[in-house]
Amino acid sequence: MGGVIGIYTEEDKNISKNIYYGLYAIQHRGQESTGISVNNNGFVDYYKEFGLVHEAYDNETLDRLRGNIGIGHVRSSDSIENVTANVEPLVIGYKKGALALANDGNIVNSKKLRESLEDKGVIFQSNVDAEVIANLIARYHKDDIEEAIMKALETIKGSYALVLMTTDKLIGLRDPYGMKPLSIGRLGNDYVLSSETCAFDTMGAKFLRDVEPGEMVVINKEGLKSIKFDNTKPKKMCLFEFIYFARPDSKIDERSIYLARREAGRILAKESPAEGDIVISAPDSGTVAAIGYAESSGIPYDEGLIKNRYVGRTFIQPTQELREQGVKIKLNVLDENVKGKRVILVDDSIVRGTTIKQTVKMIKNAGAKEVHVRISSPPVKYSCYFGMDTSKRKHLIAAEKSVEEIREIIGADSLAFLSLEGLIKGAGNDDVFCTGCFNNVYPMNIDFGEEKKHEANL
Ligand code: SF4
Repeated sequence: MGGVIGIYTEEDKNISKNIYYGLYAIQHRGQESTGISVNNNGFVDYYKEFGLVHEAYDNETLDRLRGNIGIGHVRSSDSIENVTANVEPLVIGYKKGALALANDGNIVNSKKLRESLEDKGVIFQSNVDAEVIANLIARYHKDDIEEAIMKALETIKGSYALVLMTTDKLIGLRDPYGMKPLSIGRLGNDYVLSSETCAFDTMGAKFLRDVEPGEMVVINKEGLKSIKFDNTKPKKMCLFEFIYFARPDSKIDERSIYLARREAGRILAKESPAEGDIVISAPDSGTVAAIGYAESSGIPYDEGLIKNRYVGRTFIQPTQELREQGVKIKLNVLDENVKGKRVILVDDSIVRGTTIKQTVKMIKNAGAKEVHVRISSPPVKYSCYFGMDTSKRKHLIAAEKSVEEIREIIGADSLAFLSLEGLIKGAGNDDVFCTGCFNNVYPMNIDFGEEKKHEANL
């Protein structure tokens, strides 16, 4: 999982501060590492660090990173080793000069591509897909960069929202299915690219439009040029962005995440009513759906769980041990609001079940009479191959267990999930979503090697 930012300006400015603010706004997309790379008159400089954006950079570093083009990245990953070489942007030198890349997504055939490049003598320094893409581009150095990218993309399969920086261009790309979001903004006369539109607000930029699925936008001193490199695929946005991942103040493909979540909560209340005295949310990602549930059911919404805002997302943290400890550190019950009450707890999803189990226990320990759990998405039964670390299948509680079995495990008095139809209806009611982790129907054939599929499903 990750997030990207890109900026193109006409003059040499200290753009790294704006990239920093953009990365800060999309911090929720990745908390393990971050990097910024800038082009300063043909000289590409960069800085990479582990940890949160506000910890990684200081004023001195940002003052050093001057230039007129820059890209930035944040990442979390269960599967990539925490070594500096794996921190993006990836910066390489090739025959045409320097190239920096940062990606949000997962190239499903990267292992095969990597092996075939290694057979040709290519040496890799990292485990990230961006290096495979960079090497494929470098092979076509006789072509101009747009041609080279398009040739490289012919062999690449998977999800990607990619920002690239050459010494004179900022390039943004979205995979042919548009699985990952990428938007274009204007900051005065400058162009900005971001995984999420919320970063534009933070940076003071105005939303221009989304990069279309299968579109490459090339920004240089002549302005913005659009190249449609693949328009043969149906749009298949990641539905999980709407449920959990994206910030509610962002819009993806001009759809409001906030409104989609609120509508999901409303539909959930109609599909699975519960008798209760209070609707509370699992903060923060369950809050909007809980408001929708309360509106539709007529049962008042109030705060029942208080979140320590300085703790990251539990399911992103890499080990089970940390996750379990994380829940207790992260949440506390407002017992004056739940004591003696029939509580309806709304959460956005159940992945491993660790968080919700402990949350139900905490609410009951605080004196709630009943706890009815309502989830504003269907059970997550299958792994994601496209960059969302929802977990290996063996860790997904819904992979093997029925709703009743899950209810028993988490200790709730009742449990219900939103239907897939209800979720899609709330997000816009059309067939533009990847739904793979709910129904095993993925946008592309997963023929990238049974080995990787097997690994993910273990
Ligand atoms: S499988 Fe699920 S998490 Fe992965 S891209 Fe599809 S909807 Fe998103």
